[in-house]
Amino acid sequence: MPAVNEPEPPTLSVNSDRLASSLHESCQYGADHRYGKQSIDTGMARLSLDDSDRAVRDWFLRKAQSLACTTSIDEMGNLFAIRRGKNPDAPPIMMGSHLDTQPTGGRYDGILGVLAGLEVLQVLEENKIETEGSIGVVNWTNEEGARFPKMAVSSGVWAGAIPIEDAWNLEEVTPHEGKAKTMLQELDRIGYRGKSPASYTSNPFAAHFELHIEQGPILEDEGRKIGVVQGVQAFKWFNITVRGRDSHAGTTPLYARKDSVLVAAKLIVAANSVAKAYDGLATTGIFNAEPGTVNTMAHTSTFSLDLRHTSNDVLEKMVKECRDAFQAIARETEKGCEVDWKLLVDSPAVVFHKDCISAVQDSAEAVCAQLPGASSKQLWKPMISGAGHDSCYTNLRCPTSMIFTPTREGISHNPTEYCSAEDCALGASVLLGAVLRYDRMRADRGDFKHA
Ligand SMILES: [Zn+2]
Repeated sequence: MPAVNEPEPPTLSVNSDRLASSLHESCQYGADHRYGKQSIDTGMARLSLDDSDRAVRDWFLRKAQSLACTTSIDEMGNLFAIRRGKNPDAPPIMMGSHLDTQPTGGRYDGILGVLAGLEVLQVLEENKIETEGSIGVVNWTNEEGARFPKMAVSSGVWAGAIPIEDAWNLEEVTPHEGKAKTMLQELDRIGYRGKSPASYTSNPFAAHFELHIEQGPILEDEGRKIGVVQGVQAFKWFNITVRGRDSHAGTTPLYARKDSVLVAAKLIVAANSVAKAYDGLATTGIFNAEPGTVNTMAHTSTFSLDLRHTSNDVLEKMVKECRDAFQAIARETEKGCEVDWKLLVDSPAVVFHKDCISAVQDSAEAVCAQLPGASSKQLWKPMISGAGHDSCYTNLRCPTSMIFTPTREGISHNPTEYCSAEDCALGASVLLGAVLRYDRMRADRGDFKHA
């Protein structure tokens, strides 16, 4: 719903063609995996801190400087471009995402959020808009965790959630020439270890807004254009071990078995039923059985279990119900196998800031109202993110929220990942409107009185 009693900020939109052409210009660095004839029919392989990442960083800084921004680099190689507002001493509102990709990634995941930020600054510049506070763009290093195996590690360092030494010492997953290089070595090699501390205390933000492709099918399936993201769902990862007894497949009758694979299979089915009952998710992606021969039942089976829900409390209930169900199945079938649980990852639900969410929602309402079809259908919807993002870490230290755009067939982390130029521009216009609304909200509540 649009906010009542509040004058609308000037209606500005981004330039769709310009956004598309600069997005694809930036993708010349690291383009790979051609799948079609058009120039943009390629995916990306721009791994964090490799030569193509260095090249796109150089490009980003040139572009930001051409927009009269002040640029800086911190110790994690995070890049900041700030456009001065009337109160330059107050912390800026930042628009952030990442320019690194998966090894078989696409042209939109992360990249859209950074390029849309630059486009927003360009619209402000050409319309000579003087914002109350400063507005900037941040490119977070190694969000994907594809080369250095920790997701969103550099926003995590900025937020004080990950010690910088741990981040610097991360070794690349796939060494190219002999010994694996560390993040610190690669930051130094490409010349992007900056001097300023990677920290929210010395480099605070007023807010963080992230535009990102949905990476799932919901917006497209429902014929909607914008997701107003409320938060990120909670998840827990477990390693489950089932212990039975190995014995001969031909001489052990069914009634006398302790078949760990059969029990594990029943547990996976049970976890799926629990997830269905609670409208959550349960996934097993890894499964191993030992000793692993055709004519012996396995004495030990291990599998991964990823359980997710938007509510921490409901996730807790799902875990408990799975534990009870697993216990019952293991005891009652197969002469009593044993089940062990080991917690690997515990990631609570992220709830974004209400002021940022309402700035995005009002902006989405205004932008979508101009579209054909807006009178018969609401073209935006509140959503929960299924994946983690840099915004999960910024949310620890400043008001944060996200905006989603449709993703063709929900496909992401794949070279054919696609969001149309029109949908990218709609998302960027929502980002622009959200930032301007939040800027005005700061002035109205007196953020700049002592700045
Ligand atoms: Zn991303």
